[in-house]
Amino acid sequence: MRILVIEDEVKIAQFIKRGLKEEGYAIDTAQDGQEGYSLAGSNEYDAIILDLMLPKMDGLTLCKTLRKEGNQTPIIMLTAKDTVKDKVKGLDSGADDYLAKPFAFEELLARLRVMLRKKDGRLQTQLKVDDLTMDLLTHQVTRGGREIELTVKEYALLEYLMRNAGNIVTRTMISEHVWDINFDTFTNVIDVYINYLRNKIDSDYSDKLIHTVRGKGYLLKK
Ligand code: CA
Repeated sequence: MRILVIEDEVKIAQFIKRGLKEEGYAIDTAQDGQEGYSLAGSNEYDAIILDLMLPKMDGLTLCKTLRKEGNQTPIIMLTAKDTVKDKVKGLDSGADDYLAKPFAFEELLARLRVMLRKKDGRLQTQLKVDDLTMDLLTHQVTRGGREIELTVKEYALLEYLMRNAGNIVTRTMISEHVWDINFDTFTNVIDVYINYLRNKIDSDYSDKLIHTVRGKGYLLKK
């Protein structure tokens, strides 16, 4: 899952970025409304965390503009203001949720999870492909009941594959949703991580779940 954080207060932006990276999210940051608008239009994000008060273009205008252009990326709006009127304005502008500063990181995380679940219409907290399961709350992954230890990045890659189970995902799609804007597309990092996952998920089992589709990408299926 790749998230865009648009926040001009560097401390808060770094706090959010660090916390979300630890949870396996790929994070891009923008420090003003215009930069945020341009990133939101040129990349496919799974969610946007948008501050209300921003230089160059404020959060409400940015949110309204994206929605007018048909951009449906889930948006959670952050603001120092906590009045009903401001909340209504934020939601009216097309934001999906609203969080008043200061907030606990855990609350942001929980709301982000709910929003991401709404997006793909799944209300369960678990992903399952054959005998492979992923608990989205505890990050526990098991195959055939046996627990599999994954690094944060392996987990993020597997989550993306599981959410798209049965469909071919290209390296471009993977890089756009699992890595951030600094990802170097000329490296073979994705293939390396796929191999890590294969070793942990498939090597001990006769039924392989991760398949290579030559010239296209990868496919997770039974
Ligand atoms: Ca601000």
